[in-house]
Amino acid sequence: MRFPLSMPSLGTEEHKYVSEALRDGWISGSGKYVDSFEAALCRVVARNFAIATSSGTSAIEVVLRALDIGPADEVIVPALTFASPATAVVRSGATPVLCEISPEHWTIDPRCASRLVTNRTRAIIAVDLMGHPCEFDQLESLGVPIIEDAAEAHGASIGSRKTGSFGLASIFSFHANKAISTGEGGAILTDDEDLAAKCRVVASHGMRPDRPYYHNVLGQNAKMTNVTAAIGLAQAERWSELTKARTGVELQYRNLLTPLRVESRPIADWATYSTWLTCVLSEDPEAIVRIGRSAGIDCRRVWPPIPASKVFERFSSGPYPVAEMVSRHALWLPTWSHMDNSSIEEIVRSLWG
Ligand SMILES: *Cc1c(COP(=O)(O)O)cnc(C)c1O
Repeated sequence: MRFPLSMPSLGTEEHKYVSEALRDGWISGSGKYVDSFEAALCRVVARNFAIATSSGTSAIEVVLRALDIGPADEVIVPALTFASPATAVVRSGATPVLCEISPEHWTIDPRCASRLVTNRTRAIIAVDLMGHPCEFDQLESLGVPIIEDAAEAHGASIGSRKTGSFGLASIFSFHANKAISTGEGGAILTDDEDLAAKCRVVASHGMRPDRPYYHNVLGQNAKMTNVTAAIGLAQAERWSELTKARTGVELQYRNLLTPLRVESRPIADWATYSTWLTCVLSEDPEAIVRIGRSAGIDCRRVWPPIPASKVFERFSSGPYPVAEMVSRHALWLPTWSHMDNSSIEEIVRSLWG
């Protein structure tokens, strides 16, 4: 592919910190880069505690276990998202309750969520879908703990409040195609000191901090390695540069596509979005993906609705017309930070020229 869907931006600091971590010899799931990366994340999103994890998915699993969510519990998740939130809930033993998304911004629709709350609802996993913040005020008014999934929303905000700082706890992913990337990796952020301590224990084998090799809670190994955190620290120091550059790429696509009457994903006027992948709508997205493939441009259809996958089918309480509409018509265009204008122009010309 001449134009991949995405690529990370790895600079000299990333190389330098990784070399230092290797030279240091401390490569496992603790160490000075893990501490520094966690501190940098707290600074960037204005949260008190951060726990770096092996992935965004394991971050969600750890939060659910730290909150003691399991069989007999229900967790509300959006009907359209990358599968991680639904997967994590099923793996916890709880039931994912699938919620319709809003046509105005494609994140969980608070009115639909309010109809799904029961006395077994333990949390709502609010996904800032494709970098668009959720309607947190309305979701919080439902009186259920919110877990913010900001995996696709590095650098977005509502007013001065940054994504990754909402809810009881939030998670990020740093997968290679995300705006801030460590290859694989994630993090949990919270202002709740007890919850932070519990998450750290769960993510580290459930081992008692005061008595090693004794386990009062069932844990898992979800730690980020020191080498990975070295990449993360360099990326976190470039947070603003990387996220702004990526948003600029989406804006440039929009400027070129609007005159061609190609519709972009919707943005609510109260939200400051960030860009993960540029997302547009088409009557026939499959045709565009096909044209792209023959021109060496990696465009992708967005995910199917969650209940379209066999493992989640039985949790459907649909229909989910908005989730289905987005899934049928939306596609992603190649997007990375510092993508040059001539590449964007060439992609638009090849696909819509
Ligand atoms: C990428 C992503 C995750 C986590 O992905 P990992 O690959 O496990 O880091 C979680 N939720 C959403 C919405 C995502 O897009």
